[in-house]
Amino acid sequence: MQAGNHSADNLELHKLVAKNKFGTFFGVSQEIFDKVWSKLTAADSNSVVYISMEIGADPDVFHPIKDTLMDLEKTDSMDSNTKQFIKKLFHGPEKIPCYGGGLGVLAGDTLKSFADCRVPVVAVSLLYRHGYFSQIVDSKLGQISQTVEWRPEDTPGLYLLHDPDNPEKPLQIEIPFFNEYDQETMAEAQVWMKMEVNHSLDYFIPELLLDFSLADNPIPIRDAAGQLYNSDSSIIKATQRRMLGTGILPVMEAIGITSSTLHLNEQHGVVVALQLIAEELQGMLKHSNLCEASEEQIFAAADKVAKRLVYTIHTPVKAGHDRFNKSVYAGISHKSCRHILELLAHDDESPHSYNFTTLAMRVNRTANSVSRLHRDVTHKQFPRFAQKITAITNGVHHLTWISDARAELFDSFPELAGWRDNPGVLQNAKKLQHNKQFRTYLLRAWEKDSEILYQYINSMLLLHRNEMTSTWIDPPNHYSNIIDDTTRLTPDVFTIGFARRFSTYKRADLIFDNIDTLCSIALKNNWPINFLFSGKAHPADEPGKSVIKLILDYQKELHVKSKGLVNLIFIPNYDMQIAKVMVAGVHAWLNNPKRPLEASGTSGMKAALNGVPNLSIMDGWWVEGYHDGLTGWKFGHEGPVDEADLSESPEALLYAEDSASFYEMLPGVLEEFYGDSSHSRLIDKAIMNLSLNIPIFNTHRMAAEYLQKYQLKLPATLQARMDDFAALYNSNE
Ligand SMILES: *Cc1c(COP(=O)(O)O)cnc(C)c1O
Repeated sequence: MQAGNHSADNLELHKLVAKNKFGTFFGVSQEIFDKVWSKLTAADSNSVVYISMEIGADPDVFHPIKDTLMDLEKTDSMDSNTKQFIKKLFHGPEKIPCYGGGLGVLAGDTLKSFADCRVPVVAVSLLYRHGYFSQIVDSKLGQISQTVEWRPEDTPGLYLLHDPDNPEKPLQIEIPFFNEYDQETMAEAQVWMKMEVNHSLDYFIPELLLDFSLADNPIPIRDAAGQLYNSDSSIIKATQRRMLGTGILPVMEAIGITSSTLHLNEQHGVVVALQLIAEELQGMLKHSNLCEASEEQIFAAADKVAKRLVYTIHTPVKAGHDRFNKSVYAGISHKSCRHILELLAHDDESPHSYNFTTLAMRVNRTANSVSRLHRDVTHKQFPRFAQKITAITNGVHHLTWISDARAELFDSFPELAGWRDNPGVLQNAKKLQHNKQFRTYLLRAWEKDSEILYQYINSMLLLHRNEMTSTWIDPPNHYSNIIDDTTRLTPDVFTIGFARRFSTYKRADLIFDNIDTLCSIALKNNWPINFLFSGKAHPADEPGKSVIKLILDYQKELHVKSKGLVNLIFIPNYDMQIAKVMVAGVHAWLNNPKRPLEASGTSGMKAALNGVPNLSIMDGWWVEGYHDGLTGWKFGHEGPVDEADLSESPEALLYAEDSASFYEMLPGVLEEFYGDSSHSRLIDKAIMNLSLNIPIFNTHRMAAEYLQKYQLKLPATLQARMDDFAALYNSNE
């Protein structure tokens, strides 16, 4: 991607190196570095700590520093220090595999927007030396999960912070864990920093990643530290959550971060609230025996702490809400914490569990859902807290997800000038609705992105075919047996993309419920269709994994019954890079969760930002992004949502009803593509997505709505800019 409006000519490379007592960093000037740092450590506490279990911000999809350097021709003025940074930057790995899906990618996108808007935020997360997991797919076995081999030491843009008092050594923070006899065992973490540098290289958000995989740590801690969402046992799971939550205050203290507001991106890090409550009680009681705190004192402390916390809830699905058997917590936390948990994390459904969603709901000054429909659902799920739960609809980072070809197009029309700094400018795309040149160029950009996607798919299919002889893996795709030098998949075929985590409520197999009907639609008019699917199931999610296997099993049947017209391709090891190529290259993006279980969904927004229409159930963000057929299609069950609709049991997943609705809709969709060789109706939809959806479903607007909750005091010009973004939309209407 181009560096856009950054003037690379004036950049002096040695000015991209900054130092402080924690180390030497590359990417912004000393002046910028100091400016950001001083805000985060200032006595006025006017900044935010953003807490997330995962952050997805792979530099292979957005990397302003590298893009700027590639634009630079002269590199002669470099000293050896700078040379080393640059060498690592150009030759090091481009992935930081510490995310599992939508929650992490949202966190990354959010932080990038904070950086673009220059809002004082610092993020805290964990560093997983085995990442999440990497997915191999075998047509007979389905998903095979493998550990990720990844070394933060070799990864450009990641810095191990050093101890200011002992600069040869890493900075370490200490966190107490407890055994069942309330004896303390200390766990240590070192701290990595990634800088989310903005596209004008004049601001960054530090991400502090706590790394508990240290040789001296107790084995249970190391077990829990290595892999994101390791759920081998509930102890491991609870320990992992506690590492994040209990790590916040020590890392803030070690670095000197003074932020008064803490934003919980999901409840995973909510243990920080317990720490803060314990601190409050200590102040009230004037001695350290917290066990003697009365209920009133605990509630008073909780109310005080709540004033510092902002909480975003991301899902109505049960698996997304941490509940731990009380016995689990007896093994990792102090008795006084358990006392507080008894009062604040009561689980209505099980007296033997602590419910961390309840705790997060209880201890915050404001909570938000991630779409309007999700707000209504959350109100039903948590009637006690309904008053403070508002909607802030998710967004995506436009500079990350808009393809190069589309970005070049936007750059070349004066009506869209400034779109990189202000995605709201895309409202003006409406004025280009009848501009022949714009329409032609948009179609060309789309075709270019489809070419890129198909090149990727075809080489993948060939690679799998060739690997068949050298590995034990059966190619995941039936098409690998078909492809040869003359047979290729081609982008002139209507292409539907689907990629997301394989959770059963997302129903990846929905539209294959009746293969005969599906094939007859293709056969009737001789309309070919390519379905491109991708996504991982959590390694412990057996039902999710069997949906992947089903998708693989349907491939041959689809191909044969449709006489080769319908092909279903599975792309293994879904990540941000695959997502980016898919959302820009397909002709429509499919989203078919069971309503109302998809709280928001963001991959459809990535498609919309490229003008690609969605084919979607009326769930999550699409209720807001649909606009009466102008931006895409809707299908499936609608209507008011009640408690019964939240069921995730197989009988309640509405396969028959929603797939029938899809088959009813599909011929009209295909007719729009095949009925008109200039694709003018598709281009109409694309332009409507640009003008109606980009201004809303971007993280600048979302960050601006968060800011209204943060209560920061910002400089007037910055505040005015954020108010403009917030004015683009009111999620909570
Ligand atoms: C965007 C994204 C997701 C989230 O997609 P949903 O539509 O919200 O399910 C998951 N994984 C990756 C790699 C993504 O880029």
